[in-house]
Amino acid sequence: MIRKTIGDWFREESALLRKEYGLDDTSQMELTLENPKMWTHYCLIEEEDIDTGEGESCNWCGQEEEAQKLIDKKLPRSKVKS
Ligand SMILES: [Zn+2]
Repeated sequence: MIRKTIGDWFREESALLRKEYGLDDTSQMELTLENPKMWTHYCLIEEEDIDTGEGESCNWCGQEEEAQKLIDKKLPRSKVKS
């Protein structure tokens, strides 16, 4: 099963809109709407990776972005998983 992400959907929609309005690939629209800034952590409450909006803390465990940055620095995620 192929899952379409919101990002995929948005890319398709924005490509159509750009064509329609004659905008180029670096239009402001895409810059502001695509890739909202998120930070990721392994949530001990949910027991999975959770994406959280920039500047927000985790809804489940209350982890904060700055704290997670420190953890990632000391314990790179690639090393944890392999
Ligand atoms: Zn969490």
